[in-house]
Amino acid sequence: MAGIWIFAEKIGQALELLEAGQTLIAAGMSGELAAFSWPGGPDPEVLGTGGAAEVLLLPPLAEDQPLEAYGPAILAEARQAGPDLLLFSATARGKDLAARIAGGLDAGLCSGCTALRWDSESETLEMERLLYGGAAVHRIAALAFPILAAVPPGTFRPGAGNPDRKPRTRHLPAPPLSSVRVLERKPKERQGLDVAASKIVVCAGRGFDKREDLALARDLADALGGALACTRPISEEMHWLPEDLCIGLSGIQVKPDLYIGIGVSGQVQHLTGIRGAKVVCAVNRDDQAPIFAAADLGIVGDLYAVLPRLLQALKETASP
Ligand SMILES: Cc1cc2nc3c(=O)[nH]c(=O)nc-3n(C[C@H](O)[C@H](O)[C@H](O)COP(=O)(O)OP(=O)(O)OC[C@H]3O[C@@H](n4cnc5c(N)ncnc54)[C@H](O)[C@@H]3O)c2cc1C
Repeated sequence: MAGIWIFAEKIGQALELLEAGQTLIAAGMSGELAAFSWPGGPDPEVLGTGGAAEVLLLPPLAEDQPLEAYGPAILAEARQAGPDLLLFSATARGKDLAARIAGGLDAGLCSGCTALRWDSESETLEMERLLYGGAAVHRIAALAFPILAAVPPGTFRPGAGNPDRKPRTRHLPAPPLSSVRVLERKPKERQGLDVAASKIVVCAGRGFDKREDLALARDLADALGGALACTRPISEEMHWLPEDLCIGLSGIQVKPDLYIGIGVSGQVQHLTGIRGAKVVCAVNRDDQAPIFAAADLGIVGDLYAVLPRLLQALKETASP
């Protein structure tokens, strides 16, 4: 059986990949879409309305088993059914599973895949990924199948879906017990809005002197009804904000209507994450900062002078 299989931890990510898969099929790639579901994972019905013709149901895992324990079950099924393309949402676990399954199938894996295209003339799947820290685009043509791709969340937009679509379901056998045991589970604390889904993103960069000063950026995000995000030094080096708020090559991709970078220099690895932003605005005291070359609106000035004035202006606009 040819076709495209989708594995994503969250339903939003699965819907993005289903939309990408539907585009490939509409362009002439043969087969149908199938998506994985498991207890606590993406809802089978929603996967169906999002475009999955078949939902492959994985059995529940024991409490001490990690999600990666599904790997052998997915691999066995892929060996038997022979999908042409397996798309994984490139979360930490998704990337891990994709690499293991590619190894097991002796197949190629395009990690960090940012574009997928089917060329019906040459019957080739074309994929893109960023190279050299985002300075170049690597175009790959898949000449042999199966092929795998790990796609960063937020790369594609989910489609509208069709509530009348009902998928077929198929139960897969339980995987063998993984020798990796989960000792403890702790929910991640989420601060503020979901950055990837937010229409307005305020991004704090290394221009902030102290952790407490980030309150200025948070106030601006709140005043605009947007989400607070950051550059890598703010999360990885300073640990002032969690890593899942970092935008860029090693963080998340965002596609907001408005992105405001404050004290952000605009290195290519960061700009990679905001390529889909409709309007880019920057506040930086250095008029030569590279972010101004990518910005639609720029304010050259000290953030400690500019932000209080912006906040005051927003307050005045909001009050009748
Ligand atoms: C493989 C690789 C992957 C990477 N992935 C990422 C990634 O995913 N995301 C990411 O962000 N980075 C990433 N980086 C790091 C990236 O190269 C930059 O180092 C980083 O983006 C810089 O962050 P910044 O703009 O906050 O800091 P800086 O480059 O230090 O810039 C700070 C800016 O603030 C301005 N400034 C200073 N004080 C003020 C003030 N008072 N008012 C106004 N402006 C002020 C300065 O003029 C400067 O332009 C990666 C690097 C590598 C090598």
